[in-house]
Amino acid sequence: MSNQNETETCEILVTGAGAAGLAAAIAAAEKNSGGLPGRIALLEGARTIGAKILVSGGGRCNVTHETVTPADYFGNRRLIKNVLASFLVETTIRWFASLGVALKREPTGKLFPTTNRAHTVLTALLTRCQNLGIHIRPDHRVTTIEPTNQATFLITHRHGNLLAKRVILATGGRSLPRTGSDGFGYELARRLGHHVTETVPALVSLVLDDSMFHRSLAGLSQPVELTTTVNGHIVDRRTGNLLWTHFGISGPVVMDASRFWCLAPTRKEPAEISANFFPSLNQEQVRAWFSDQAQAHPRRSLANTLSHRFPDRFVEAVLHHADIDGAITRARFPRQRRDLLVNLLTKFPFPIRSHRGWNYAEVTAGGVPLEEIDYRTMESKITPGLYVAGEILDCDGRLGGFNFQWA
Ligand SMILES: Cc1cc2nc3c(=O)[nH]c(=O)nc-3n(C[C@H](O)[C@H](O)[C@H](O)COP(=O)(O)OP(=O)(O)OC[C@H]3O[C@@H](n4cnc5c(N)ncnc54)[C@H](O)[C@@H]3O)c2cc1C
Repeated sequence: MSNQNETETCEILVTGAGAAGLAAAIAAAEKNSGGLPGRIALLEGARTIGAKILVSGGGRCNVTHETVTPADYFGNRRLIKNVLASFLVETTIRWFASLGVALKREPTGKLFPTTNRAHTVLTALLTRCQNLGIHIRPDHRVTTIEPTNQATFLITHRHGNLLAKRVILATGGRSLPRTGSDGFGYELARRLGHHVTETVPALVSLVLDDSMFHRSLAGLSQPVELTTTVNGHIVDRRTGNLLWTHFGISGPVVMDASRFWCLAPTRKEPAEISANFFPSLNQEQVRAWFSDQAQAHPRRSLANTLSHRFPDRFVEAVLHHADIDGAITRARFPRQRRDLLVNLLTKFPFPIRSHRGWNYAEVTAGGVPLEEIDYRTMESKITPGLYVAGEILDCDGRLGGFNFQWA
């Protein structure tokens, strides 16, 4: 950096000290093998660095996944594939090891620091920055980035100006705005000539209509097959655990599906999410299951039959919802009512009122189109010298460490 009286200059200015900004700054410094000490500046708008890293993965930071493929992401998968290929999971694991962070694999395939603490990850990143002479400045929100005609950028921040030869834009998306990622980075990208596709919350829980029985089931988790349809077409089908909550539905399967439901209104298309509570069976097989049960246990009540398969609380709520008397014996249960119940249990339509909002979303769907970025270097094809990385790009991963791998 130059002295205080003139406009400061630096080689590389990184905007945003989240996962992508920290990793980019470290990579840039390491690539220049110590040739740029003090020449890389990292400006962060928030007062605290790494707040999102600390809350991630329930405070344990799920940094990546044992296998990462383009199918784990949404966006332009052809380009996502190229970006992923330049930094494989093995490289991530080696890179963390070089920072002194050992990772362990959990049965789900997720990789966490062996300490089980997100703090380990953040401390390692900050220590490496310090050792490489990277200036990190909290409370330095960037307000403008303007290319000058001397092949540099003039950056205005909360405390003054800075000239940089190259700029890395890593301002994140809109998820968890209290950590500093409030979407202003999109405005910076726009002013630098980029498009920004519609942004909506992804990996977010869904709020159900008050008429539903979710409150009585709060805390209950059960396996389901979730189907999302948009404009009558199936756009997503996945199996996993659904968690009932006091406001509606959550859990991995709901979080993963939420992006489709959130995106649909931006295209003015109606979206629906339904559940099959017999995830491995189709309607015919479920009907057969009911018939088998009736034959094997003709005197068993309907509620009792269902309780062999589902938690009592769920059985009670569903039967009440369908206005079916659970005390009736299976043998005396009219076929028409049985079909209605089978339909309900295999295509349960959730009356979704809204998503839970940016304060609860883990990631942003939409952003700067990947087509405007050179995937080999992440340099902008529109503004040379500008590089874009992380959640600000139009790419979102499913739950499981894929978003950190991308960042
Ligand atoms: C609760 C929660 C849990 C999560 N858990 C996981 C997990 O376990 N595994 C996983 O893979 N992903 C997880 N994610 C997603 C993951 O954290 C993000 O996708 C990832 O951190 C994005 O990194 P980023 O650097 O691109 O953006 P961010 O982490 O959002 O960082 C952007 C930074 O830029 C700063 N900034 C913004 N505008 C400006 C400006 N104008 N000037 C200066 N600075 C600015 C922001 O303050 C912020 O610090 C989780 C997310 C949340 C919210």
